Amino acid sequence: MSEEYVITDECVACDNCIEECPVEAISDEEEIYVIDNEECVGCDNCIDECPTEAIIVKE
Ligand code: SF4
Ligand code: SF4
Repeated sequence: MSEEYVITDECVACDNCIEECPVEAISDEEEIYVIDNEECVGCDNCIDECPTEAIIVKE
């Protein structure tokens, strides 16, 4: 089983997730932020800190 963390277009670019990610897996190079699932360790910090519930986990 592999999970994939995805940021949807609900993202309002608040930077909360970037600040709370322990492995710097999230980049703001795009209009909508992007999670690098090769780097992500699945801690869920970003989900907990997102004000718009923009981050989802796909199984
Ligand atoms: S789940 Fe944790 S490691 Fe993965 S992107 Fe979110 S904050 Fe970073
Ligand atoms: S915490 Fe949510 S709204 Fe804020 S930048 Fe991250 S994905 Fe976007």
